[in-house]
Amino acid sequence: MDKGCSLRENEVYEMSDYSLRCVECGKIFEDSEEGFLLDCDEAHGPSLLQADYTVPDFKLDQEYDGIYRFREWLPIRRCFDCSPRTVILESEELSSSLGLPDLHFAFNGYWPEKDANMLTCSFKELEAAAVLARIPEGEQRTMVVSSAGNTGRAFLEYASRTNSRVLVVVPEFALPRMWGSVPKGDCCKLVILQDADYFDAIELGNQIAALPQFFTEGGAKNVARRDGMGTVMLSAAAALEKIPDHYFQAVGSGTGAIAAWEMAWRLTADGRYGQRIPRLHLSQNIPFTIMADAWGNQQRDLPDMPIEEARSKAKSIYATVLSNRKPPYSLSGGLFDALSDSHGIMYNVTEEEARAVGQRFSAAEGIDLDPAAEVALASLFKAVAAKTVSPDDCILVNLTGGGAQRFAAENRRIPFAPDLIFHKGEVNPQSVQEKIAAFF
Ligand SMILES: [Zn+2]
Repeated sequence: MDKGCSLRENEVYEMSDYSLRCVECGKIFEDSEEGFLLDCDEAHGPSLLQADYTVPDFKLDQEYDGIYRFREWLPIRRCFDCSPRTVILESEELSSSLGLPDLHFAFNGYWPEKDANMLTCSFKELEAAAVLARIPEGEQRTMVVSSAGNTGRAFLEYASRTNSRVLVVVPEFALPRMWGSVPKGDCCKLVILQDADYFDAIELGNQIAALPQFFTEGGAKNVARRDGMGTVMLSAAAALEKIPDHYFQAVGSGTGAIAAWEMAWRLTADGRYGQRIPRLHLSQNIPFTIMADAWGNQQRDLPDMPIEEARSKAKSIYATVLSNRKPPYSLSGGLFDALSDSHGIMYNVTEEEARAVGQRFSAAEGIDLDPAAEVALASLFKAVAAKTVSPDDCILVNLTGGGAQRFAAENRRIPFAPDLIFHKGEVNPQSVQEKIAAFF
C-alpha cells in the first residue's frame, strides 16, 4: 500500500484557528464545538458561510502530506495519516500545440509515476479528507452524505480508512461506481435508492439526517468541503509560486469552482502570489447545461428543471457527474457571484469534443481522464479558439478525475455492497424512520 494510505490510524491535532462569516450579512460565528455550522441564523435569503483563517499568510507544513500541508487554511480538528495529493504537471505536447508555454494541469486521481495517490480517482477525496477531519472528537452520531457517485465513493474510502461513521446515500444507477481500494469499514453504510435521481437521494439523505443518531454533511454549505477542494488552488500556488491568470474546470454543482475562487482571494491577501484572482472558465456537458445557459443570459436565478427532464438529460450525458439540477448557483457566495467577480466564462461541451481531447491527452501523457476532466480540457481548446486566453497567460486546468481505467486494469477495485435499499415510494419521514430504526 502506498505512502499516506495506512488504515485506521489517525493523529489528533488541535483545531485550526478560524471563524465563519456569512457572505450575505457579514455576521461572524465561531464554529461550534459539538458540530459544524452550515447556515447563518439571520432572516435573509440563502447564503454560504466562508471561513476566515487567523493565519493570514499561506503556509506549507512539510511535516504533513497532501492536503494537510495546508492545515492552517482548512477548518479541521485533526490530520489523518492518509491524505489525497493534487499533482501539478505540464504537458509538452499540449503546451506546444496550443501555443501556451505557461499551461499547467492539476491532476487529481491515480497516476503512480507522478505520485498522484487518489485511489478513487476523483478530486472528491479532497472534500472527504477535509470534512472527516472537521468532525469533532467524540462525535457519536453518523454523518449522512448524499451523492451521485464520486463523492460517495470518496467518503466511503476515507471513512473506511479513518474509521469514521458515515452513511452514504446514492441513487441505484450509481451503484457500479461504489468501489474503493480498501474493504468498506463496519462504520460505513451504503444506502441505495431505487428508481431515483441524485436529487431524490439528497431528499432521502435529508430525512435520515433529521433522525437523532445522524447529522448532515451539508454539501456545498460545508466550509470543509469547499476549502478541501480549494487546496487545488493552493497546490498550484505552491508549485508555480503565483496565482494563475485562468482557472478551468467542468462543473456539476460548481462547488469546486466556488472553492477555487475563495481560495484565490485568500492568496491575494497574502500578497506574495499576485494581487489578482484567476478568471474562471467553467464548462458543462451538453445537454445538461443549466448553469451555462443561465450565465449566458446573465441570470442569477436558475430555471426550474422538471424532474423528468433532469432524469432524461442525466441519463444521456457523457460526464454523468455533471448533472446536478439544483446546484449552489444563485445563493450569496455561490457560483453566480464567483463568475461575476472573476469575469468568468462558461462553455458548453459535446461528448465528441470531450472524448477527442481525452484521447489526445491519454495518447500524449499515458493516463486516462475522467469524462468531466475531458470536458474541462475541451473547454480550454474552445478558449484558445475564442482567444479568451493569451499565449503569455498562466493557465491552470483542474483535471478533476483520472486514472480510473488504469486502476481497474490493475484489478484493485473492491466493490462496495449496499447495506440498505430504499424504493423512491418509501421516501417519507415515517417510512424512513421505521426502516432505519429496524436496520440499526
Ligand atoms: Zn447572514
